Amino acid sequence: MSKDTSVLLDEKRLFKPDYHLVEEAHIKNWEAELEKGKDIEKYWEEKAHQFEWFKKWDKVLDESKKPFYQWFVNGKINLCYNAVDRWINTDKRNQVAILYTNERGEEIKLTYYELYREVNKMASALKNLGIKKGDTVSMYLPMCPELLISMLGCTRIGALHSVVYSGLSVGGLVERINDSKAKVLLTADGTYRRGKIIDLKKIADEALLQCPTIETVVLVRHTGNPIKISELSGREILYTTLLEGENELCPVEEMDAEDPLFILYTSGSTGKPKGVLHTTGGYMVGVATTLQNVFDIHNGDLWWCTGDIGWITGHSYLIYGPLLLGTTTLVYEGAPDYPDPGAWWKIVEKYGVTKLYTAPTAIRHLMRYGNKYPQLYDLSSLKILGSVGEPINPEAWMWFYKNVGKEKIPIMDTWWQTETGMHMIAPLPVSPLKPGSPTRALPGIEMDVVDEKGQRVPPGKGGYLVIKKPWPAMLRTLYKEEERYEDTYWKQIPGGVYMAGDMARIDEDGYIWIQGRSDDVLKIAGHRIGTSEVESAFVSHPLVVEAAVIGKSDPIKGQVIKSFLILKEGHKLNTALIEDLQKHVRYEMGPVAVLGEMVQVNKLPKTRSGKIMRRILRAQEEGKDLGDTSTLED
Ligand code: ATP
Ligand code: MG
Repeated sequence: MSKDTSVLLDEKRLFKPDYHLVEEAHIKNWEAELEKGKDIEKYWEEKAHQFEWFKKWDKVLDESKKPFYQWFVNGKINLCYNAVDRWINTDKRNQVAILYTNERGEEIKLTYYELYREVNKMASALKNLGIKKGDTVSMYLPMCPELLISMLGCTRIGALHSVVYSGLSVGGLVERINDSKAKVLLTADGTYRRGKIIDLKKIADEALLQCPTIETVVLVRHTGNPIKISELSGREILYTTLLEGENELCPVEEMDAEDPLFILYTSGSTGKPKGVLHTTGGYMVGVATTLQNVFDIHNGDLWWCTGDIGWITGHSYLIYGPLLLGTTTLVYEGAPDYPDPGAWWKIVEKYGVTKLYTAPTAIRHLMRYGNKYPQLYDLSSLKILGSVGEPINPEAWMWFYKNVGKEKIPIMDTWWQTETGMHMIAPLPVSPLKPGSPTRALPGIEMDVVDEKGQRVPPGKGGYLVIKKPWPAMLRTLYKEEERYEDTYWKQIPGGVYMAGDMARIDEDGYIWIQGRSDDVLKIAGHRIGTSEVESAFVSHPLVVEAAVIGKSDPIKGQVIKSFLILKEGHKLNTALIEDLQKHVRYEMGPVAVLGEMVQVNKLPKTRSGKIMRRILRAQEEGKDLGDTSTLED
């Protein structure tokens, strides 16, 4: 039995919000809002009233079939109606809903009214293709307006979308199409990536040889990559041809709150991706409320979530959250450092982005280029920054805070998962922040850190991160795998709690620190150590940019820490630096952090959503099979 570690990264800095921000904020008192959120059903019920329902619910939460929870029982609603139609009779009618731009500086703007027209056309066209409520439509598209329009078109008529990230290749696409039994696939002639065009159609064609359920392929001409109409096969149709002549308005489908909304696969960091099923009413309430609470959306905001629509961050906070709140969402197709490492800052300046939501992997990547690039642009429009996807190392947090936020604006570090659908642990803009901690569970959410018996661990001790009460945007099941749903999340820890699969600790102020994945945890001389704290200790050394650590079997100690390090440009990992790093990490973490071998690398294996895949490093080390690599970056 391993002891819980008391090895902690000792991060004591505290950042209080600027008073301007507090004056402006919708929620001024964090503690009071948390208190309000303790009555979970009442809290979420109040939030549900922001939408137009065809029929209100009979019951907020039904727990009778645990863990198959139901929210807003018998409520009738449509997401597309609330994200689009609802705004066109208000002063938002001619406000830009979607602002698309790409690495070539091209731009497309769609107002709410224009979006409404396009979505209606798309919904009618899907119906004409035989798509009915409950059918699945797969989308393998770049970040382009047609993707958003098609997703909304699906939700308008009650079809499920299954978006496949456009960076995945044949195997990943085949698996996802077949798993979701999609009837229609939307794809494109290509996507821009660092000055090149990746031919998505070619990949789709290869995949479709193995996908018997697909009846129609809709092709978006996005890049102008030449595809002649005469080359299209019988089941293929151009997006523009499909929508031609579709001028009729398409009525919205009255959906039950618990009707399925979409299927989306997890990132595959720890194994085979899981097909997560989300439903309608609770998802809408959860996503809109958390975006409002965490990023304090106001009229006039320009919201930019840099995540890809192919992942949950894009679903919840690039498209649905912002449109449900009637704000303008910026869609960017391109990399952060192309054509140069100032690309993102240029966009912030050009459009006057007010809220920027990104990921640690991008921040660490941009840090490598130093402070120069953010200084070249006017970033004064920014009011709130955000991060999601991995633990943000305190060092990366500080870089973002200083160079992008100019030490004035707060960073919302949001912890959540494909499965949770919405933010779960995150500060509000008025919360005092500690670099590297997502602070506390949000109002209306109850979480804890427990041992394997389900007992709360004392402050400072590591344990399993669990969610103790159902939440509105929770996954309802794993698609067609109900048993796996129960086993993976609900049966691991006694007490009927949801096990997130991450390790964490809670400090004496009640702030949560994510220590890493439970699958990746290190067991050194009987102590359990999370990967993220060791990695953050490395990254806090001035010469280390990125680090990944794994436990390697050792005949004496059980495991020793093997570290893979990316160093600042021009530096080599020599004996002197190794010694220095050993001392540095030990100083940061205490004597238990016994470091074994260190190696310098140029790249770390990552998922295509930008998360370090330590299981690949472990498998390589042990000469084992790499497992599911469908979402591996390269
Ligand atoms: P799989 O479940 O297939 O292994 P995944 O867990 O990487 O893939 P996602 O649902 O995209 O798939 O990611 C959720 C995970 O990302 C969380 O469980 C957590 O490990 C990590 N994560 C997300 N946000 C944060 C954050 N702010 N701080 C720390 N970790 C985070
Ligand atoms: Mg996961």
